[in-house]
Amino acid sequence: MRPVQKGTSPVATPPGFANYEDAKPDLISRLGPYCSYCERKIVTILHVEHLQPKGLPKYAHLELAWTNFLLACVNCNSTKLTKDVLFADLYFPDRDNTFAAFIYTPDGKVAGNISANPTISAATLALTGFANKRSVAIDTNGKEVAIDRGAQRMEAWLLAEESRNDFASNPSPELLRSTVRTAVACGHFSIWMTVFAGDVTMRNALIDAFPGTRASGCFDAQGNPVSPAPNPDRLADGGKV
Ligand SMILES: [Zn+2]
Repeated sequence: MRPVQKGTSPVATPPGFANYEDAKPDLISRLGPYCSYCERKIVTILHVEHLQPKGLPKYAHLELAWTNFLLACVNCNSTKLTKDVLFADLYFPDRDNTFAAFIYTPDGKVAGNISANPTISAATLALTGFANKRSVAIDTNGKEVAIDRGAQRMEAWLLAEESRNDFASNPSPELLRSTVRTAVACGHFSIWMTVFAGDVTMRNALIDAFPGTRASGCFDAQGNPVSPAPNPDRLADGGKV
């Protein structure tokens, strides 16, 4: 899960946003058009995600709060629903080093990293189901959409591996830029970072290319994760990993 810095609200608060959907262009500009949890690039039905769900009465006052927003796909959003969110018990990419918290493998699976708190990792995986191999969501037209995040991770892994092999045989600036463009178009930041582990130049180029990632302060000059996260926005219960 790619760590990000969202920054301060783009609109003065108060009055803040009139409608939470109005925050979507700013969120996409700062974070890129990716699900904040499963890291897929979502071109159309990307939702403004309320970290603490607006559907729970105790969080109703956060419906228009910039600090409570991320972006989510229909699968992660519809799994998370109105489950209660206590920041101390979960990892979130706007306040924790979620890249350091999870391990991605070629079989499309995601697991908690040994350096992270296993209880918090498991709770985070359960919250959105982002690591689930298969999940079914129904769109507004009654059609099943994007049902297999595991298979999509495997495809991304293969694409990243092919790119790594090509770059190893021709480590030119042009191919580096082309590889980064492919990664940005594909999404799945953590998979590209994992496949290019040990390649300082490529890792730094990826960190710089995905919006909001460098600013998170979660990576050092070698492209390795910095843990705990510096939590530059000073969000509640951040910097747990
Ligand atoms: Zn998602």
